[in-house]
Amino acid sequence: MLDSGIGSWPARRARMTPGARAFVQDEAVVTYAEVDRLVEAVARGLRARGVTTGDRVAFLGLNSIELAVTLFATARLGAVFLPLNTRLAPPELAWILTDAEPALLIHADDFDEVVSAEAVATLGLPSHRFTAAAGHGLDTLAVDAAGERAERIDVEVGLDDVFMIQYTSGTSGRPKGVMLTHGNIAWNAFNLLVDVDIRSDEIALVTAPLFHTAALNQVLLPTFLKGGTSLIAARFDPAEAIATIERERVTLLFGVTSMYQALAQEPTWATADLDSLRSALSGGAPIPRTLLDTWQSRGLHIIQGYGLTEASPGTTMLRAGDGLDKLGSAGTPCFFTDVRVVAPGGEDAAPGEAGEVHVSGPNVTPGYWHNGAATEAAFDGPWLRTGDVAVLDDDGFLYVVDRVKDMFISGGENVYPAEVEQAIYTHPDVAETAVIGVPDERWGEVGRAVVVRRPDSVLTQEDLLKHLDGRLARYKIPKSVVFVDEIPHNASGKLLKSRVRELYGTPEGATP
Ligand code: ATP
Repeated sequence: MLDSGIGSWPARRARMTPGARAFVQDEAVVTYAEVDRLVEAVARGLRARGVTTGDRVAFLGLNSIELAVTLFATARLGAVFLPLNTRLAPPELAWILTDAEPALLIHADDFDEVVSAEAVATLGLPSHRFTAAAGHGLDTLAVDAAGERAERIDVEVGLDDVFMIQYTSGTSGRPKGVMLTHGNIAWNAFNLLVDVDIRSDEIALVTAPLFHTAALNQVLLPTFLKGGTSLIAARFDPAEAIATIERERVTLLFGVTSMYQALAQEPTWATADLDSLRSALSGGAPIPRTLLDTWQSRGLHIIQGYGLTEASPGTTMLRAGDGLDKLGSAGTPCFFTDVRVVAPGGEDAAPGEAGEVHVSGPNVTPGYWHNGAATEAAFDGPWLRTGDVAVLDDDGFLYVVDRVKDMFISGGENVYPAEVEQAIYTHPDVAETAVIGVPDERWGEVGRAVVVRRPDSVLTQEDLLKHLDGRLARYKIPKSVVFVDEIPHNASGKLLKSRVRELYGTPEGATP
């Protein structure tokens, strides 16, 4: 009998749709039956390397079929999958590895240099190196069951057991290890099946990094659960993504803001046949209204979702049928998830009143790995405090205002940078912007806009501030603008406000 953990999904799919395509990467096609066989063999290999229930198995590599095989194999053993952010520097990786203490580090050969860097090498972790090869890159680790009379691996895994530890992006300090159980991830996938209507003929394009919660939990796993096909790209290339959507008739896509922006700027975007796209999901950061409009003008609706690693991550979603008048909202709660907006006094905020988003549901983490203090601070009974500020409208639609910690106070008034950024994006010469608060003798803090201009633009501080005059209350209008070539992002494409503050947040950084 199979248990109900995620490690059982390949076997369950293999008995239902053995010949269907589970994963495609470049020329390689792997069916569900083949995934099941690979997973069983790799699970045996992991066991032979001493990995057992509860052990962490770290994985460092770009998106690949091998990554998917490793996560199912780990789950099959009741061990814990630990995906590592491929863009971290060795000391950052070392910090996570020291915190998570994995029993094994599996890494792709492209990361030899990182793994042999002193900070990581001195940890002396047992490791296994592979070369991605259409899902067979782990054959060197695998122990095939074919020659043995042994039964299938039979470890009883429960829905409350930890399936993975996912470290948050660390946009607000040291990354924390979020424990996500088999149940958390399964319920999040069920939310997707209801909210987005994931189908068995789904063709999902997985170009966002799989070590991040969205690509894995919002796209690859729900698609797998339904027996659809995930087209796995090692990395995001906008021209290639558009060509793939057209050629493969992609139906499901996830992207962060910068990806949707890059797609819309591709020369082929205007004429490509993108009609097959049923669900273009976004999330993880605010998405400018102007970008939603650009996509809408092409007849494509970006489904804005709001979520966080701690909620596996789906929390709210603006579904395709919710109506254009709600464009810009992050929608209503996911089916099995509950959301409250809590006013500063601790009561539910009235419609239109800003408060902190609290979330509860079977997709919400039981807590942080090895960090009881952070877990305790994050919960108010069953409610997880998200640290995000939002308002609900009269119809219960959520509008994310900003992070509590990004807000600044100017002359006694709260300023939410995300709102100022939305106004700045209405200027056609702005490619990207980040607004921060900087110290000011008179007002305490004032806004500063860090702006990337579109190519060939000669936009000046004066032009931009004039553009904002009348669009925003005076105290919200930044007092200075810094033009830069690039704004720092993290590996998942998220704008790194803390880094922007470090680079441009001093009074001297004001030189326009
Ligand atoms: P860290 O916790 O280390 O700072 P992080 O918060 O970026 O990292 P994630 O779990 O990747 O970790 O991101 C979740 C956060 O992303 C949310 O708490 C919220 O601030 C932001 N976010 C997600 N979706 C949206 C959205 N639709 N609109 C605005 N912000 C969003």
